[in-house]
Amino acid sequence: MAQAQARRAVESGVPDHTPFLHPTLKKNYGNWKYHDRPRPGVLHHVSHSGDEVWTVRAGTQRQMDVYTIRTLCDIADQFAEGHVRFTIRSNIEFMVSAEAKVAPLIAALGKHGFPVGGTGNSISMIAHTQGWLHCDIPGTDASGVVKSLMDELHEEFVREEMPNRVHLSTSCCEINCGGQADIAIVIQHTKPPVINHELVANVCERPTVVARCPVAAIRPAMVNGKPSLEVDEAKCVCCGACYPPCPPMQINDPEHSKIAIWVGGKNANARGKPTFMKMVAAGLPNNPPRWTEVAVVVKKILRVYKDDARPWERVADWIERIGWPRFFEKTELPFTKYLIDDWKGARANLNASTHIRF
Ligand code: SF4
Ligand code: SF4
Repeated sequence: MAQAQARRAVESGVPDHTPFLHPTLKKNYGNWKYHDRPRPGVLHHVSHSGDEVWTVRAGTQRQMDVYTIRTLCDIADQFAEGHVRFTIRSNIEFMVSAEAKVAPLIAALGKHGFPVGGTGNSISMIAHTQGWLHCDIPGTDASGVVKSLMDELHEEFVREEMPNRVHLSTSCCEINCGGQADIAIVIQHTKPPVINHELVANVCERPTVVARCPVAAIRPAMVNGKPSLEVDEAKCVCCGACYPPCPPMQINDPEHSKIAIWVGGKNANARGKPTFMKMVAAGLPNNPPRWTEVAVVVKKILRVYKDDARPWERVADWIERIGWPRFFEKTELPFTKYLIDDWKGARANLNASTHIRF
């Protein structure tokens, strides 16, 4: 019998991107002299070697069917030079090495409904979490909120007239894999989970679920002779963290799962430190298919920011300058004591015990 071969390690990290680079980018990698922005949505890079490349940025809806991707690839083959890349906010960029190719490329993108913009101070395409397509715990359809909002906001992607970049994100649970954003739309559960005791013993690893709760509100319990769990509803902050490891603790609810708006987060450290976003509106209806009430609040904040912020102020910088009272006055959003919690009290109001964490 042949000797068993040693198994080889499978490399599954990020693939090397260099074979896919546009040849001009590859040739001049790390050797750029300067770049400018001849018009919104177009970047022009000049290399020390004298080579030039124009990059045209178009917005996409992020979750794309195969026909849309083929359309974009056909545009790349016909009007660009066969190379594309995606930005972190799901825009697509086409590179060309001759200025004469820029206008026909923009016309082709426009003909197929892809707006060109986003290279300057604009609202970028909204980053959204996976939602119903890939994740098992969403309380809303993040991509649906994005589609509805960008239908109304995409002119601000094309025009680039905001004081600084505005990054928006949507997250379909409170655990929020969407991260920080200038304006974020985040699901908000308002009632504790409802436990299906019949299923808990078969489906959930109870110590894991108990350890998962940030306020230690979950306890093991025997219910109808079966091992199950119980929730101290006075303690529960309705975060939804128990639902992923224990689906019988259902927290999604068509009436009680709402939407909250958070503002002032950013990951960049340009001109100021990264900042955490803070909640400024809560209890908005989770109202598909157009999420009208959410759009009203987001557009109101954007309008006031656009009118009131100084050039280059991000949303967080603008609020820092005018102060939270003025923010609520100007946006006419109702203020309650539950908003803009900055977690200074987290050591006291959240469970930080090492005894019941993982
Ligand atoms: S935000 Fe929550 S529900 Fe949505 S994809 Fe991320 S982890 Fe899943
Ligand atoms: S994990 Fe969150 S939702 Fe679940 S019981 Fe604890 S506080 Fe409530």
